[in-house]
Amino acid sequence: MAHADADGGVNRGSLYILGCRVDRVDAHEAAARISQLVERKVSAHVVTIGAEMANLAYADREYRDTINAADLVVPDTVGIVIASRLLRAPVPERVAGIDLLERLCADAAARGDSIYLLGGADGAAMAAAGALVQRHDGLRIAGAEHGYFREQESAAVCERIRSSGARLVFVGLGFPRQERWIREHLADLGPAVCIGVGGSFDVISGRLPRAPRALRQAGLEWLYRLVREPRRFRRQLALPIFAVRALVQSFGTRVGTPHTQVK
Ligand code: UDP
Repeated sequence: MAHADADGGVNRGSLYILGCRVDRVDAHEAAARISQLVERKVSAHVVTIGAEMANLAYADREYRDTINAADLVVPDTVGIVIASRLLRAPVPERVAGIDLLERLCADAAARGDSIYLLGGADGAAMAAAGALVQRHDGLRIAGAEHGYFREQESAAVCERIRSSGARLVFVGLGFPRQERWIREHLADLGPAVCIGVGGSFDVISGRLPRAPRALRQAGLEWLYRLVREPRRFRRQLALPIFAVRALVQSFGTRVGTPHTQVK
């Protein structure tokens, strides 16, 4: 049941899909909550969860704990939206990580906060930063660097981020690496909100095209990406498995299994 929260916004709570928390926020609410965290100058982790991630977390307790410990978990893919409906606790809409990133850049530019882009192949984060600056007047880039570093280099990466003073850190290392990396290093990044954004820098920089709006609205972005990047096939085998598991969970909900609570 939705109720008003302390700020007068709507608080629909969260649901659990295959044991993973998903916060029932729309794009506007997600951006507002993140902006509040930035303004409070706290360290925070935001997860943009997709069906493939929930599927992995189902079998990997540590990854599931990492997701569930995040400060905000937004429904990034159509699979998560459909599962939430099946579980009778619908999220208001899909909040795609790449759209959230654009909104947050607009808010950061308005406030004067700087952002850091970490991830992607050499040059992708820098090119994405250039494109974002063009679109968001006054946006301050604290830094941008590729995501193909070794774990031993993480301390130096963290130090660059911390000393840059970035308040928002977009981490595009792909899942599950980006969630694990953020959890492990959040305390070393200074007061920053870190968000896993997958391959967003590839799209923003123009290296990969985004699915046309009509396909996105039809919930077929996964199919477009599969055709453009056939190497995703193995990964996407997780989608039917996710669907079956979500169906089983929804059946359990109907007969009263307490696994799908809405909080
Ligand atoms: N990547 C990275 N470091 C790694 C592995 C991957 O920076 O060690 C980047 C990769 O270049 C790509 C992104 O992580 O930009 C993963 O993109 P993918 O499309 O797999 O993520 P999704 O958007 O589906 O979560």
